[in-house]
Amino acid sequence: CGIFGIYGHPEAANLTYLGLYALQHRGQEACGIVSSDGRSLHVHRSMGLVADVFGDQAIFRNLPGEAAIGHVRYSTTGDSVTKNVQPIKVDYSRGSIAVAHNGNLVNAQMVKDELEAWGSIFQTTMDTEVILHLLASSKQNALEDRIAEALGRLKGAYCLLFLTETRMVAARDPQGFRPLCLGKLGDGWVVASESCALDLIEAEFIREVEPGEVIVITKDGITSHFPLKKSEAAPCIFEFVYFARPDSYIFGKNVYMVRKDFGRQLAREHQVDADIVIPVPDSGVPAALGYAQEAGLPFELGLIRNHYIGRTFIEPQQSIRHFGVKIKLNPVREILEGKRVVVIDDSIVRGTTSRKIVKMVRNAGAKEVHVRISSPPTSYPCYYGIDTPTRKELISSSHTIEEIRRYITADSLGYLSEEGLLKAVGAGENPFCKACFSGNYPITFPKLAAAPQLD
Ligand code: 5GP
Ligand code: SF4
Ligand code: MG
Repeated sequence: CGIFGIYGHPEAANLTYLGLYALQHRGQEACGIVSSDGRSLHVHRSMGLVADVFGDQAIFRNLPGEAAIGHVRYSTTGDSVTKNVQPIKVDYSRGSIAVAHNGNLVNAQMVKDELEAWGSIFQTTMDTEVILHLLASSKQNALEDRIAEALGRLKGAYCLLFLTETRMVAARDPQGFRPLCLGKLGDGWVVASESCALDLIEAEFIREVEPGEVIVITKDGITSHFPLKKSEAAPCIFEFVYFARPDSYIFGKNVYMVRKDFGRQLAREHQVDADIVIPVPDSGVPAALGYAQEAGLPFELGLIRNHYIGRTFIEPQQSIRHFGVKIKLNPVREILEGKRVVVIDDSIVRGTTSRKIVKMVRNAGAKEVHVRISSPPTSYPCYYGIDTPTRKELISSSHTIEEIRRYITADSLGYLSEEGLLKAVGAGENPFCKACFSGNYPITFPKLAAAPQLD
């Protein structure tokens, strides 16, 4: 998911719309904006892409005020139905509050069971709603204390934006799984999942929100708080591999440069005699450039992508994903015919896409097809906000690299090593979460039942 918020600007909802548009790659299922005019909160949310949901300018007349938060959703928990669209807003004894969440709580079900035993009634199946219930039932007075108390009960990954009638609050979990940054636009403050959203609205990048930090923004300015127990940082390395946009700066680094270094490192680890290097667009492009430069091979665009289809993997239905590859990619015969081709992609999940791509490249006349993957085998599901499928569906959880090579019908297959991945990202001093590759989960689950996919 992606979140965006702005405080102290007369065009708050319009700018949030633009911010969400820049974050569309983080979720294409649904989106929403909640604005505040200083007295009450206004909501517009729906299933669909940002440009479609907010295509009608008239909508913005109903989103007045100088503060707004927004969300683009792709479902990691909760069904993909309309009532699960964020931001969620509730009215309670102290007024109204809305929240937008990127991440995934690992103890949501446990907390929910407790709250329900005390009489709370939940309206959605999202883990995010738990946060609002905790907040509403807190005995603390100040908003930041109520938020701190609620966050103290949560385990897992969260970047959160809260909006009340008069305040906006940003919070990042102590491990800092997901990225979140702070910017400035005129006298207003901006918070966004990725810096590319700041660029679009010409906001100045100030800094990242720190792991464990809670930033309260009011008309008097911002205050920073660290109310939670410190813990070792575990930013998601998969943001660099696939999820974030290459023009963004996250976790102190530019995503494009890191991806290119993945490609360079991959070339060092898995050389092959070949004629050209081609990426699987778009996710494989920077790594393919790095690979080609390091290997001294020509970089070509051997597969052309139709840009009007979203990231197929994110579409929640298996049926759509099935013919998705053909809708999305078409080979350039002129480039591929008679060549020994290195195909670079960022990851293999189920292997179905890769298999179709190898066939496509071969049918277009390639003499050899060598697949190189700019991350290690994805063998474990993510519980921290990336929608990887269950363990069973991850091809590398139950197959050797040689078996996968045979399945995708490649002449050779090579993955970036875990050491190579960490080296390229410069992780020397900084730990990262890489559990989907290593199986070492930085947060254990309070009870295994709360992690239904673990099989
Ligand atoms: P597969 O060959 O496993 O069917 O598909 C691999 C493709 O899925 C890669 O091109 C990768 O970029 C894409 N992909 C899209 N979304 C995701 C995601 O959320 N996780 C992973 N691991 N890969 C994804
Ligand atoms: Fe990121 Fe993988 Fe860790 Fe999930 S398990 S947070 S995708 S590195
Ligand atoms: Mg891809």
